[in-house]
Amino acid sequence: MPLSPEQQAEITEQRGAPQQTLRAVSEGMEAHLYTAYPVLDHGFIRVVDYMGDDAAICQAARVSYGKGTKSVQNDEGLIRYLMRHWHSTPFEMCEIKLHVKLPVFVARQWIRHRTANVNEYSARYSILDREFYIPAPEHLNAQSVVNNQGRGAALEGEEADRVLRLLREDAMRCYDHYEEMISQEGQQGLARELARMNLPANIYTQWYWKVDLHNLLHFLRLRADSHAQYEIRVYADEICKVVADWVPFAYRAFEDYRMGGATLSATALDCVRRMLKGESVTQETSGMSKGEWREFEGLLG
Ligand SMILES: Cc1cc2nc3c(=O)[nH]c(=O)nc-3n(C[C@H](O)[C@H](O)[C@H](O)COP(=O)(O)OP(=O)(O)OC[C@H]3O[C@@H](n4cnc5c(N)ncnc54)[C@H](O)[C@@H]3O)c2cc1C
Repeated sequence: MPLSPEQQAEITEQRGAPQQTLRAVSEGMEAHLYTAYPVLDHGFIRVVDYMGDDAAICQAARVSYGKGTKSVQNDEGLIRYLMRHWHSTPFEMCEIKLHVKLPVFVARQWIRHRTANVNEYSARYSILDREFYIPAPEHLNAQSVVNNQGRGAALEGEEADRVLRLLREDAMRCYDHYEEMISQEGQQGLARELARMNLPANIYTQWYWKVDLHNLLHFLRLRADSHAQYEIRVYADEICKVVADWVPFAYRAFEDYRMGGATLSATALDCVRRMLKGESVTQETSGMSKGEWREFEGLLG
């Protein structure tokens, strides 16, 4: 269970105490504020705070004295222009602070995104909970034979049962030893900062993660993508839903230009031009490597 009844009560209390403000408020985001959305078996994401909205992006772009909004249509057009031309600093004027609970091996991928502010739960100070990510059977895949960094079909039957049993048994045994080491009866016990070293990477950790919208969209572009590992992608997918409600114009532009769009090399663009003129271009005449050509064909469908 991602949240205990006490944690849920704290969140409900916070949601029950609205305050008046002169600051920009995104109605879509207000609906999400503080709510924990479950991810994987014990994880979640929840918005703790945010700053700005679509209008704040326009306000910064126009360096306005007031709200900076001209008209809804005009604002969306401006945001699309900024996104199209990589004019990124106005997007940095919006910020989001998330509370995330995630397995340690997912956290290792996530933390590579350096342009954020992080504060993690201290396993030197506190005792970690007995919570481990155990994949649902449909996400227990074999190693891919075509992609060294990917997965193939889901394991089935006895093989799936065996792997699940090993994952559960190892997690429980390591946690039993962790508990045993930190609580030696009548003695001091091993320091928490040392005892944690035998815990497996599927144990859950938590952090507060604050990032501006520009860098968040960069994170989502990489991690909500089909090439990202499933276990981080599900977090990114959940964040995408929040961002779509927080800054709908910016999110639509992001979907159009970044998630759904593609960058073409000069060589690939030349091939498109030749094709439009009626030439039958092949990999051999394209000037592209086999890998590039495969990806190019994939893009054109
Ligand atoms: C599918 C996938 C597979 C991956 N596989 C591997 C792997 O096998 N091994 C591995 O180590 N990593 C891997 N990564 C991580 C990847 O290389 C990046 O570290 C990660 O995606 C963070 O991206 P970033 O540096 O652009 O983000 P951020 O750290 O948020 O940085 C954003 C941007 O800021 C700029 N920036 C930030 N810090 C610096 C700096 N110090 N110097 C210069 N510019 C900076 C860069 O322009 C950067 O793009 C993988 C990522 C993905 C999505």
